Amino acid sequence: MIEAPVFEKGYPSHDAVNRKPAMKLRYSEAFYSVQGEGAYVGVPSVFLRTYGCNFRCQNFGLPRGREKTRYNPEVEKLINDKVHETTKTFEDLPLVFTGCDTYASIYPEFKDLVMDKTIDEVVDHLLSLTPEGKWTMDNGQDVHLILTGGEPLLAWQRLYIELFEHPRMKDLRNVTFETNTTQFLHTEFADYLKNRARFKTTFSCSPKLSVSGESWTDAIKPDVAANYRSVLNADMYFKFVVADSIDVEEVDRAVEAYRANGINCPVYLMPMGGRTEGYNLTVQEVAKLAMAKGYRFTPRLHISLFGNAWGT
Ligand code: SF4
Repeated sequence: MIEAPVFEKGYPSHDAVNRKPAMKLRYSEAFYSVQGEGAYVGVPSVFLRTYGCNFRCQNFGLPRGREKTRYNPEVEKLINDKVHETTKTFEDLPLVFTGCDTYASIYPEFKDLVMDKTIDEVVDHLLSLTPEGKWTMDNGQDVHLILTGGEPLLAWQRLYIELFEHPRMKDLRNVTFETNTTQFLHTEFADYLKNRARFKTTFSCSPKLSVSGESWTDAIKPDVAANYRSVLNADMYFKFVVADSIDVEEVDRAVEAYRANGINCPVYLMPMGGRTEGYNLTVQEVAKLAMAKGYRFTPRLHISLFGNAWGT
């Protein structure tokens, strides 16, 4: 008899996945939009937001140096108010101003609002979101697939080969992993990306700075970035969320640490603020800081286009 998988914090441990061959993918939302951040800004893309993260990033937007607590204060209030029990769908959840802007993808209290689907069902869902029910359109343009989170390179990566090799995914040309760059690739998955994948892979690496509330030791992992860089046919860039020059000094140190490990790739600065109100406060300042340092600037285009909304 196969043991049931052990779900730690709502997502499976690597060991649990190893023991359970026919797992379902747990994800909080999938939607069609334009990529709002990073190297592919403006590209029509389907986003698949996997459930679970090894981080909490609860301090974004809160006073610098705030002590780490179990919950971001806004999320704690939502939980105390039983919002996770009274809200019927993920899309109806309130947005927050501080902490992780996809809080419902990371806190176990919200796991009943997410989906648990077989790869067949996931493929059906993803393709139903594309304009023509396929990845490469009749006019020759292709829709990108963005694996985001949560942290998409948790143990879910065990399911990705099955996802990408599904017969209805054959015309997929571009896949981006939006990762916090703390999770090594499984050997089998790395081998797949290096030798068998028919699409172009991009690692959009967003290591978290201290302003997030996560520690340098936990968040800045040059050996993990080097692991992604070893997929030589993949593209890779760094995208740091910053609010001011103090954060940019930390970016400098992180970039130095990555370069010391042989990792040279484009570096983007992205303004803090998952909601219009916070974003507008930092956007100009961050653009100026990026120009001064020769870093690239990335907007959060989806916020300018669609405002505060899930599914964008
Ligand atoms: S790494 Fe990303 S998904 Fe995870 S807690 Fe931080 S902001 Fe949220």
